[in-house]
This record gives sequence, C-alpha cells and structure tokens, in this order.
Amino acid sequence: MTKTEATQTANCLRCGRALRAPRSIANGYGRTCKAKVREAARAEVIAAHKPAQVAKALELIELGGIVAVRGRRVFRTVSSDGTRTYLSAPQACNCAAGLKAKHVCFHRIAAQIVAAA
Ligand SMILES: [Zn+2]
Ligand SMILES: [Zn+2]
Repeated sequence: MTKTEATQTANCLRCGRALRAPRSIANGYGRTCKAKVREAARAEVIAAHKPAQVAKALELIELGGIVAVRGRRVFRTVSSDGTRTYLSAPQACNCAAGLKAKHVCFHRIAAQIVAAA
C-alpha cells in the first residue's frame, strides 16, 4: 500500500461502500464482499459439474498442479501421472479429453475454480 495509491477511491461492486485499499480497488470488492463473491462463484462451478470430476479438480489445485501462466485466464496443469503438462483455460484445454471436447475435463473445472477465486 503506497500513499499515492491510497488517494484513489472506488465503490464496492457488491455493497456499494467506498473502497480505499488499493487491493480492494483492484478487485472491485471490499474484503468481505470479495470472499462472499468468491465463495458463490466456487459453489456455482462445483454445482455445475459431476462430483467425481470436481473432486479431481480440487485435488489438482490442492497438489499445486495448476499454475497461472497468463493472468487468471490460462493455466498450466499437470496430467494425473505427472508426466505431462497441458494448457488449460475455463473454456478450453489441450489434454486428450479436452481436445475431443465431449465433456468438460477436470483441468477446465480446476481452471474455472481458480479463475473464480
Ligand atoms: Zn462490499
Ligand atoms: Zn484437460
């Protein structure tokens, strides 16, 4: 937090309260609202997919198998056996299942969860 940035203000997108912390201004939400928005977004992603796929996605995140490469839009993910990496985004993934695009692979679910956070 620097003094020059502290003079900037914005309003929380959720409750409309004035934001002063540069981090909150960058997020668009105050700290409490950001946590609530993140929780809601996560719950929405989790509810939209099969529990088994969500469990794999959460495991991938927990093991640190997903790393942002471009902002919060593109991620590098590790294959189940750890020998390969893929480029995954909430809407696309270059793993075998992702390229067939028949179903949403767990890399994409992990990307959606991380992007929502
Ligand atoms: Zn707020
Ligand atoms: Zn994938």
